[in-house]
Amino acid sequence: MLATQDVLPSSTAHLSNDERRERFRDKAHLVDVLLLSMAQDAAEFAAGDAWDEDGSVSAIDWMRFNCHMTAGAAANAVAVGEALPRMPESHQALFDGEIGFAHLAVMARTAEALGGRFDEKVLIEKAKENSPGKFFYICHHARHAADPKTYAAEQAEQVEQRRLKLSKWMDGSLLISGQLDSVGGAAFLTALAPLARRSGAHDYRDQEQRNADALVELASGGGSQAQIQVTSSLETLLALSGAPAAEMEHSLPVSSKTVERLACDSSIARVLLDSESVVIDVGRSKRVVSEPGRRALAARDGHCRWPECERPASRSAAHHVVHWIHGGSTDLDNLILLCHRHHWMVHEGNWQLVRGDDGRMLTIPPLVSFGPPSRGPD
Ligand SMILES: [Zn+2]
Ligand SMILES: [Zn+2]
Repeated sequence: MLATQDVLPSSTAHLSNDERRERFRDKAHLVDVLLLSMAQDAAEFAAGDAWDEDGSVSAIDWMRFNCHMTAGAAANAVAVGEALPRMPESHQALFDGEIGFAHLAVMARTAEALGGRFDEKVLIEKAKENSPGKFFYICHHARHAADPKTYAAEQAEQVEQRRLKLSKWMDGSLLISGQLDSVGGAAFLTALAPLARRSGAHDYRDQEQRNADALVELASGGGSQAQIQVTSSLETLLALSGAPAAEMEHSLPVSSKTVERLACDSSIARVLLDSESVVIDVGRSKRVVSEPGRRALAARDGHCRWPECERPASRSAAHHVVHWIHGGSTDLDNLILLCHRHHWMVHEGNWQLVRGDDGRMLTIPPLVSFGPPSRGPD
Protein backbone atom coordinates (compact mmCIF):
# COMPACT_ATOMS: atom_id res chain seq x y z
CA MET A 1 0.00 0.00 0.00
CA LEU A 2 1.15 3.51 -0.84
CA ALA A 3 2.42 5.47 2.16
CA THR A 4 1.60 9.13 1.59
CA GLN A 5 4.28 10.35 3.99
CA ASP A 6 6.89 8.76 1.67
CA VAL A 7 5.56 10.64 -1.34
CA LEU A 8 4.86 14.09 0.06
CA PRO A 9 6.30 16.12 2.91
CA SER A 10 3.72 16.33 5.68
CA SER A 11 3.75 20.11 6.10
CA THR A 12 3.71 23.07 3.72
CA ALA A 13 4.93 25.48 6.40
CA HIS A 14 8.26 26.01 4.63
CA LEU A 15 6.64 26.96 1.28
CA SER A 16 5.90 30.42 -0.08
CA ASN A 17 2.29 31.20 -1.05
CA ASP A 18 3.16 30.81 -4.75
CA GLU A 19 4.65 27.36 -4.10
CA ARG A 20 1.71 26.45 -1.92
CA ARG A 21 -0.82 27.38 -4.64
CA GLU A 22 1.11 25.43 -7.29
CA ARG A 23 1.44 22.36 -5.10
CA PHE A 24 -2.28 22.43 -4.34
CA ARG A 25 -3.26 22.71 -8.01
CA ASP A 26 -0.83 19.92 -8.94
CA LYS A 27 -2.21 17.66 -6.27
CA ALA A 28 -5.83 18.30 -7.35
CA HIS A 29 -4.85 17.45 -10.93
CA LEU A 30 -3.16 14.25 -9.77
CA VAL A 31 -6.30 13.23 -7.89
CA ASP A 32 -8.42 13.93 -11.00
CA VAL A 33 -6.17 11.75 -13.18
CA LEU A 34 -6.39 8.95 -10.62
CA LEU A 35 -10.20 9.30 -10.46
CA LEU A 36 -10.36 9.06 -14.25
CA SER A 37 -8.27 5.91 -14.19
CA MET A 38 -10.51 4.49 -11.47
CA ALA A 39 -13.61 5.35 -13.54
CA GLN A 40 -12.26 3.23 -16.41
CA ASP A 41 -11.76 0.37 -13.96
CA ALA A 42 -15.22 0.94 -12.46
CA ALA A 43 -16.98 0.58 -15.81
CA GLU A 44 -15.11 -2.65 -16.56
CA PHE A 45 -15.76 -3.87 -13.03
CA ALA A 46 -19.51 -3.14 -13.41
CA ALA A 47 -19.59 -5.07 -16.71
CA GLY A 48 -17.92 -8.10 -15.12
CA ASP A 49 -19.14 -10.48 -12.42
CA ALA A 50 -16.58 -9.98 -9.61
CA TRP A 51 -19.12 -8.02 -7.53
CA ASP A 52 -21.74 -10.71 -8.15
CA GLU A 53 -19.39 -13.43 -6.88
CA ASP A 54 -19.16 -11.50 -3.60
CA GLY A 55 -22.94 -11.50 -3.29
CA SER A 56 -23.38 -7.72 -3.81
CA VAL A 57 -26.59 -6.50 -5.45
CA SER A 58 -24.65 -4.23 -7.83
CA ALA A 59 -21.16 -3.06 -8.66
CA ILE A 60 -21.99 0.30 -7.06
CA ASP A 61 -23.03 -1.45 -3.87
CA TRP A 62 -19.76 -3.43 -3.86
CA MET A 63 -17.77 -0.20 -4.28
CA ARG A 64 -19.67 1.46 -1.44
CA PHE A 65 -18.53 -1.15 1.04
CA ASN A 66 -15.12 -2.14 -0.32
CA CYS A 67 -13.83 1.23 -1.56
CA HIS A 68 -15.44 3.33 1.20
CA MET A 69 -17.32 5.45 -1.34
CA THR A 70 -20.75 7.10 -1.27
CA ALA A 71 -23.31 5.68 -3.71
CA GLY A 72 -23.19 8.95 -5.66
CA ALA A 73 -19.39 8.86 -6.08
CA ALA A 74 -19.47 5.18 -7.12
CA ALA A 75 -22.30 5.82 -9.63
CA ASN A 76 -20.36 8.78 -11.07
CA ALA A 77 -17.26 6.60 -11.50
CA VAL A 78 -19.23 3.98 -13.43
CA ALA A 79 -21.07 6.62 -15.52
CA VAL A 80 -17.80 8.37 -16.48
CA GLY A 81 -16.10 5.06 -17.32
CA GLU A 82 -19.02 3.98 -19.51
CA ALA A 83 -19.28 7.33 -21.34
CA LEU A 84 -15.52 7.78 -21.93
CA PRO A 85 -15.55 6.40 -25.50
CA ARG A 86 -18.11 9.11 -26.37
CA MET A 87 -16.12 12.01 -24.90
CA PRO A 88 -12.52 11.86 -26.16
CA GLU A 89 -12.03 15.64 -25.95
CA SER A 90 -13.11 15.74 -22.32
CA HIS A 91 -10.70 12.88 -21.62
CA GLN A 92 -7.84 14.88 -23.13
CA ALA A 93 -8.88 18.14 -21.44
CA LEU A 94 -8.71 16.43 -18.06
CA PHE A 95 -5.20 15.16 -18.76
CA ASP A 96 -4.20 18.67 -19.83
CA GLY A 97 -5.54 20.06 -16.57
CA GLU A 98 -8.18 22.20 -18.32
CA ILE A 99 -11.12 20.55 -16.59
CA GLY A 100 -11.54 18.40 -13.49
CA PHE A 101 -13.18 15.06 -12.80
CA ALA A 102 -16.27 16.91 -11.54
CA HIS A 103 -16.74 18.36 -15.07
CA LEU A 104 -16.31 14.88 -16.50
CA ALA A 105 -19.03 13.45 -14.25
CA VAL A 106 -21.49 16.14 -15.44
CA MET A 107 -20.47 15.53 -19.07
CA ALA A 108 -21.02 11.77 -18.66
CA ARG A 109 -24.48 12.25 -17.11
CA THR A 110 -25.40 14.60 -19.96
CA ALA A 111 -24.19 12.08 -22.57
CA GLU A 112 -26.24 9.41 -20.83
CA ALA A 113 -29.37 11.60 -20.78
CA LEU A 114 -29.08 12.83 -24.37
CA GLY A 115 -28.13 9.54 -26.04
CA GLY A 116 -27.61 10.15 -29.79
CA ARG A 117 -28.19 13.91 -29.43
CA PHE A 118 -25.11 14.42 -27.25
CA ASP A 119 -22.63 16.86 -28.81
CA GLU A 120 -19.36 16.96 -26.89
CA LYS A 121 -17.81 19.66 -29.10
CA VAL A 122 -20.29 22.33 -27.93
CA LEU A 123 -20.12 21.40 -24.27
CA ILE A 124 -16.37 20.93 -23.84
CA GLU A 125 -15.71 24.64 -24.46
CA LYS A 126 -18.29 25.51 -21.79
CA ALA A 127 -16.66 23.02 -19.40
CA LYS A 128 -13.27 24.71 -19.83
CA GLU A 129 -14.73 28.17 -19.16
CA ASN A 130 -16.93 27.36 -16.16
CA SER A 131 -16.79 25.87 -12.69
CA PRO A 132 -18.30 22.37 -12.34
CA GLY A 133 -21.36 23.84 -10.60
CA LYS A 134 -22.02 26.36 -13.38
CA PHE A 135 -21.33 23.69 -15.99
CA PHE A 136 -23.93 21.42 -14.37
CA TYR A 137 -26.46 24.22 -14.83
CA ILE A 138 -25.41 24.84 -18.46
CA CYS A 139 -25.81 21.13 -19.25
CA HIS A 140 -29.42 21.29 -18.07
CA HIS A 141 -30.06 24.01 -20.65
CA ALA A 142 -28.43 21.80 -23.30
CA ARG A 143 -30.63 18.89 -22.28
CA HIS A 144 -33.75 21.03 -22.57
CA ALA A 145 -32.68 22.40 -25.96
CA ALA A 146 -32.00 18.91 -27.32
CA ASP A 147 -35.04 17.15 -25.90
CA PRO A 148 -37.63 19.37 -24.18
CA LYS A 149 -40.19 16.55 -23.94
CA THR A 150 -37.95 14.24 -21.91
CA TYR A 151 -36.79 17.19 -19.80
CA ALA A 152 -40.38 18.11 -18.97
CA ALA A 153 -41.22 14.46 -18.27
CA GLU A 154 -38.31 14.20 -15.81
CA GLN A 155 -39.41 17.34 -13.99
CA ALA A 156 -42.98 16.01 -13.91
CA GLU A 157 -41.68 12.76 -12.44
CA GLN A 158 -39.92 14.79 -9.71
CA VAL A 159 -43.30 16.30 -8.82
CA GLU A 160 -44.82 12.83 -8.49
CA GLN A 161 -42.00 12.00 -6.05
CA ARG A 162 -42.85 14.88 -3.70
CA ARG A 163 -43.16 13.66 -0.13
CA LEU A 164 -43.66 15.34 3.21
CA LYS A 165 -43.61 13.15 6.29
CA LEU A 166 -45.08 14.74 9.39
CA SER A 167 -44.97 12.90 12.71
CA LYS A 168 -45.89 14.08 16.17
CA TRP A 169 -43.56 13.43 19.06
CA MET A 170 -44.68 12.62 22.60
CA ASP A 171 -44.11 16.23 23.66
CA GLY A 172 -46.29 17.45 20.79
CA SER A 173 -43.48 18.77 18.62
CA LEU A 174 -43.68 18.06 14.91
CA LEU A 175 -41.00 16.13 13.05
CA ILE A 176 -40.74 17.07 9.36
CA SER A 177 -38.86 15.28 6.61
CA GLY A 178 -39.50 15.24 2.92
CA GLN A 179 -38.52 15.93 -0.64
CA LEU A 180 -39.65 18.57 -3.15
CA ASP A 181 -39.04 18.81 -6.88
CA SER A 182 -36.74 21.52 -8.21
CA VAL A 183 -39.50 23.97 -9.17
CA GLY A 184 -41.64 23.30 -6.11
CA GLY A 185 -38.55 23.59 -3.92
CA ALA A 186 -37.76 26.95 -5.50
CA ALA A 187 -41.29 28.22 -4.81
CA PHE A 188 -40.88 27.07 -1.22
CA LEU A 189 -37.50 28.77 -0.83
CA THR A 190 -38.79 31.96 -2.45
CA ALA A 191 -41.60 32.12 0.10
CA LEU A 192 -39.36 31.19 3.02
CA ALA A 193 -36.17 33.16 2.25
CA PRO A 194 -37.44 36.69 3.06
CA LEU A 195 -38.83 35.47 6.39
CA ALA A 196 -35.68 33.52 7.28
CA ARG A 197 -33.26 36.46 7.09
CA ARG A 198 -31.48 37.66 10.19
CA SER A 199 -33.51 40.31 11.97
CA GLY A 200 -30.43 42.30 12.99
CA ALA A 201 -26.96 42.03 14.53
CA HIS A 202 -28.46 40.73 17.77
CA ASP A 203 -30.09 37.78 15.96
CA TYR A 204 -28.26 34.77 17.40
CA ARG A 205 -30.33 32.10 15.60
CA ASP A 206 -28.55 29.86 13.08
CA GLN A 207 -29.93 29.26 9.59
CA GLU A 208 -31.85 26.10 10.48
CA GLN A 209 -33.61 27.77 13.36
CA ARG A 210 -34.51 30.78 11.22
CA ASN A 211 -35.87 28.42 8.54
CA ALA A 212 -38.13 26.77 11.10
CA ASP A 213 -39.32 30.09 12.49
CA ALA A 214 -40.01 31.33 8.95
CA LEU A 215 -42.04 28.22 8.15
CA VAL A 216 -44.25 28.78 11.17
CA GLU A 217 -44.67 32.45 10.26
CA LEU A 218 -45.63 31.48 6.72
CA ALA A 219 -48.13 28.92 7.95
CA SER A 220 -49.57 31.53 10.27
CA GLY A 221 -50.38 33.76 7.32
CA GLY A 222 -47.61 36.27 7.87
CA GLY A 223 -44.96 37.50 5.52
CA SER A 224 -44.97 39.51 2.33
CA GLN A 225 -46.38 38.27 -0.94
CA ALA A 226 -43.60 36.20 -2.50
CA GLN A 227 -43.00 36.76 -6.17
CA ILE A 228 -41.23 34.12 -8.19
CA GLN A 229 -38.70 35.56 -10.63
CA VAL A 230 -38.58 33.65 -13.89
CA THR A 231 -36.37 34.56 -16.81
CA SER A 232 -37.47 33.06 -20.07
CA SER A 233 -36.98 33.68 -23.76
CA LEU A 234 -40.03 33.99 -25.96
CA GLU A 235 -38.85 30.85 -27.79
CA THR A 236 -38.97 28.89 -24.54
CA LEU A 237 -42.44 30.15 -23.70
CA LEU A 238 -43.61 29.17 -27.19
CA ALA A 239 -41.95 25.73 -26.70
CA LEU A 240 -40.00 26.08 -29.95
CA SER A 241 -37.48 23.32 -30.56
CA GLY A 242 -33.90 24.22 -29.66
CA ALA A 243 -34.99 26.75 -27.04
CA PRO A 244 -33.04 26.75 -23.76
CA ALA A 245 -34.86 26.12 -20.49
CA ALA A 246 -36.07 29.09 -18.45
CA GLU A 247 -34.27 30.23 -15.32
CA MET A 248 -35.73 30.59 -11.87
CA GLU A 249 -34.09 31.65 -8.64
CA HIS A 250 -33.27 28.68 -6.34
CA SER A 251 -34.19 26.14 -9.07
CA LEU A 252 -32.47 24.17 -11.77
CA PRO A 253 -33.42 25.35 -15.27
CA VAL A 254 -37.17 25.08 -15.75
CA SER A 255 -39.01 23.38 -18.62
CA SER A 256 -41.11 25.40 -21.05
CA LYS A 257 -44.22 23.55 -19.81
CA THR A 258 -43.68 24.92 -16.33
CA VAL A 259 -43.03 28.45 -17.58
CA GLU A 260 -46.29 28.23 -19.50
CA ARG A 261 -48.14 27.43 -16.26
CA LEU A 262 -46.34 30.10 -14.24
CA ALA A 263 -47.01 32.69 -16.93
CA CYS A 264 -50.68 31.66 -17.06
CA ASP A 265 -51.48 33.49 -13.81
CA SER A 266 -50.31 36.69 -12.19
CA SER A 267 -48.60 35.13 -9.20
CA ILE A 268 -45.14 35.54 -10.72
CA ALA A 269 -43.06 38.47 -11.88
CA ARG A 270 -42.08 37.70 -15.44
CA VAL A 271 -38.97 38.85 -17.20
CA LEU A 272 -39.11 37.97 -20.86
CA LEU A 273 -35.99 38.40 -22.91
CA ASP A 274 -35.82 38.61 -26.66
CA SER A 275 -33.13 36.75 -28.62
CA GLU A 276 -30.53 39.44 -27.84
CA SER A 277 -31.27 39.05 -24.12
CA VAL A 278 -32.87 42.48 -23.91
CA VAL A 279 -35.56 42.71 -21.27
CA ILE A 280 -38.84 43.40 -23.07
CA ASP A 281 -41.37 42.76 -20.31
CA VAL A 282 -40.72 43.16 -16.62
CA GLY A 283 -43.17 42.48 -13.85
CA ARG A 284 -46.90 42.04 -14.11
CA SER A 285 -48.02 42.14 -17.69
CA LYS A 286 -51.22 43.89 -18.72
CA ARG A 287 -52.22 40.56 -20.25
CA VAL A 288 -52.53 39.14 -16.77
CA VAL A 289 -55.97 39.05 -15.19
CA SER A 290 -56.88 42.34 -13.44
CA GLU A 291 -58.15 42.46 -9.89
CA PRO A 292 -61.79 43.15 -10.96
CA GLY A 293 -61.47 40.32 -13.52
CA ARG A 294 -60.19 38.01 -10.81
CA ARG A 295 -63.06 38.93 -8.48
CA ALA A 296 -65.57 38.25 -11.27
CA LEU A 297 -63.90 34.90 -11.93
CA ALA A 298 -63.98 33.99 -8.23
CA ALA A 299 -67.66 34.93 -8.08
CA ARG A 300 -68.51 32.82 -11.16
CA ASP A 301 -66.45 29.70 -10.39
CA GLY A 302 -66.31 29.87 -6.59
CA HIS A 303 -63.61 27.22 -6.41
CA CYS A 304 -61.35 25.08 -8.59
CA ARG A 305 -63.37 23.89 -11.60
CA TRP A 306 -61.75 20.45 -11.82
CA PRO A 307 -64.55 17.93 -11.35
CA GLU A 308 -65.15 17.23 -7.66
CA CYS A 309 -62.43 19.62 -6.47
CA GLU A 310 -63.49 22.33 -4.06
CA ARG A 311 -60.28 24.18 -3.33
CA PRO A 312 -61.36 27.79 -2.68
CA ALA A 313 -60.79 30.63 -5.13
CA SER A 314 -58.17 32.13 -2.82
CA ARG A 315 -56.02 29.01 -3.36
CA SER A 316 -56.65 28.80 -7.11
CA ALA A 317 -55.09 30.31 -10.21
CA ALA A 318 -56.78 31.94 -13.19
CA HIS A 319 -56.08 29.45 -15.97
CA HIS A 320 -56.34 30.66 -19.58
CA VAL A 321 -58.19 27.99 -21.61
CA VAL A 322 -56.36 29.35 -24.68
CA HIS A 323 -53.03 30.63 -23.33
CA TRP A 324 -52.37 34.33 -23.86
CA ILE A 325 -49.09 33.42 -25.52
CA HIS A 326 -51.22 31.80 -28.25
CA GLY A 327 -53.54 34.77 -28.53
CA GLY A 328 -56.07 33.81 -25.83
CA SER A 329 -57.84 36.76 -24.18
CA THR A 330 -58.23 37.58 -20.49
CA ASP A 331 -62.01 37.75 -20.90
CA LEU A 332 -64.01 35.77 -18.40
CA ASP A 333 -65.06 33.13 -20.93
CA ASN A 334 -61.40 32.23 -21.58
CA LEU A 335 -60.62 31.82 -17.87
CA ILE A 336 -61.36 29.15 -15.29
CA LEU A 337 -60.21 28.71 -11.71
CA LEU A 338 -57.86 25.79 -11.08
CA CYS A 339 -56.15 24.90 -7.81
CA HIS A 340 -52.38 24.47 -7.73
CA ARG A 341 -52.46 20.70 -8.25
CA HIS A 342 -55.01 20.74 -11.06
CA HIS A 343 -53.36 23.69 -12.79
CA TRP A 344 -50.15 21.66 -12.80
CA MET A 345 -51.99 18.62 -14.24
CA VAL A 346 -53.36 20.68 -17.14
CA HIS A 347 -49.94 22.15 -18.03
CA GLU A 348 -47.09 19.80 -17.09
CA GLY A 349 -49.27 16.74 -16.49
CA ASN A 350 -50.70 16.89 -20.05
CA TRP A 351 -54.32 16.41 -18.91
CA GLN A 352 -57.02 18.05 -20.98
CA LEU A 353 -59.96 19.90 -19.56
CA VAL A 354 -62.95 20.41 -21.86
CA ARG A 355 -66.37 21.91 -21.35
CA GLY A 356 -69.21 19.47 -22.01
CA ASP A 357 -72.46 20.42 -23.76
CA ASP A 358 -74.14 20.88 -20.37
CA GLY A 359 -71.41 23.29 -19.26
CA ARG A 360 -69.74 20.80 -16.92
CA MET A 361 -65.98 20.31 -17.12
CA LEU A 362 -64.68 16.94 -18.33
CA THR A 363 -61.14 15.66 -17.88
CA ILE A 364 -59.13 13.60 -20.36
CA PRO A 365 -56.00 11.83 -19.03
CA PRO A 366 -52.72 12.02 -20.95
CA LEU A 367 -52.31 9.44 -23.69
CA VAL A 368 -48.77 8.43 -22.85
CA SER A 369 -47.32 7.75 -19.43
CA PHE A 370 -44.10 9.43 -18.33
CA GLY A 371 -40.85 7.72 -19.29
CA PRO A 372 -38.61 6.25 -16.62
CA PRO A 373 -36.46 8.78 -14.76
CA SER A 374 -32.75 8.84 -15.58
CA ARG A 375 -30.53 6.73 -13.39
CA GLY A 376 -30.01 8.04 -9.88
CA PRO A 377 -27.07 7.50 -7.58
CA ASP A 378 -28.22 3.94 -6.85
ZN1 LIG B 1 -52.91 27.67 -16.91
ZN1 LIG C 1 -58.50 21.51 -8.01
